[in-house]
Amino acid sequence: MKEQLTIIESTNKKNRLADDQLVFGKHFTDHMFVMDYSIDKGWHDPRITPYETITLDPAAMIFHYGQTVFEGLKAYRTEDNRILLFRPEKNFERMNRSSERLSIPSVDEKLVLHYLKELLRIDQDWVPATEGYSLYIRPFIIATEPNLSLAPSSTYQFYIILSPVGSYYSEGIHPVKIFVEEEYTRAVRGGTGTAKTAGNYSAAYIAQEKATEKGYSQVLWLDGIEKKYIEEVGSMNVFFKINGEVVTPQLNGSILEGITRLSIIELLKDWQIPVVEKRISMDEIFQAYEKGELEEVFGTGTAAVVSPVGELTWNDCHMTINDKQTGNLSKKLYETLTRIQTGKDDDPYSWTVEVDK
Ligand SMILES: *Cc1c(COP(=O)(O)O)cnc(C)c1O
Repeated sequence: MKEQLTIIESTNKKNRLADDQLVFGKHFTDHMFVMDYSIDKGWHDPRITPYETITLDPAAMIFHYGQTVFEGLKAYRTEDNRILLFRPEKNFERMNRSSERLSIPSVDEKLVLHYLKELLRIDQDWVPATEGYSLYIRPFIIATEPNLSLAPSSTYQFYIILSPVGSYYSEGIHPVKIFVEEEYTRAVRGGTGTAKTAGNYSAAYIAQEKATEKGYSQVLWLDGIEKKYIEEVGSMNVFFKINGEVVTPQLNGSILEGITRLSIIELLKDWQIPVVEKRISMDEIFQAYEKGELEEVFGTGTAAVVSPVGELTWNDCHMTINDKQTGNLSKKLYETLTRIQTGKDDDPYSWTVEVDK
């Protein structure tokens, strides 16, 4: 059932910063989307309102037990001034899978995508036109019932906020240094690693801080049980090109199922480059390195799209990959995906969705 969307336009529009002043995740548009959930009404009262602070009871369950999920995607402005989303239906499908894990009620995926498009239509001027810039979209759900008992909330709020962001690479795509984390674990099978939920990220800060202190930009996460098998890099999925074949960890119940990861697997298959999803140990990677067969390593995710790895440190083993240069395959994948996302190239896969103005 489609309920009427209420729209309250802002009468106090913000001053926009010039694109080159933007810092990731710090600036927000004029409007946001909100809807409420209660057990008797389900999801109801969808509305677009001015972007504003929210008031919650201090006992709201989100603050105590972290019952929350989020998503992340982007809107891109094309050279001919259209606004495109990249596989947005996948984000709302994944949000519902995350919600299921966190005992949060599901949303109507199609309806929520419709609401997102309405929000983007109202804030369309906020989609940057500068090359490499985009409008980051953050949908999220929080448990709002004031109650300290340990049980799922009976009330929730769903929000979408929008943030204009710069290019992840201010000086062009460049390879990063990665530290293989052996002490802390991001996720284990049966845990919450497959869900985009707050606790996974706050629990990863400590390892990230340790890596930063040692001069690395991200950590490579190993499986939580044997500390042998590769899972992810930072909050990205990870790929290795070994002797002409591309391998990535198989979805094993603790890895987040990235939409960039999926798109890259589909591109490689289309290009007839061998790609395999399997369990990969750090030992195998080191052996491939010693044989001179470790050709490229890269992370994938919405923020960076493709992030090449130039150095990988595992205990005392320091591996230099492709002379610390961006590999040809990493570059081709990055170019292909970003050109489809921004409408520069045709989209033979029907991945992009245009927002009506
Ligand atoms: C969001 C996320 C990814 C990447 O997913 P995309 O859909 O490609 O943006 C990978 N790993 C983690 C832990 C994530 O949170």
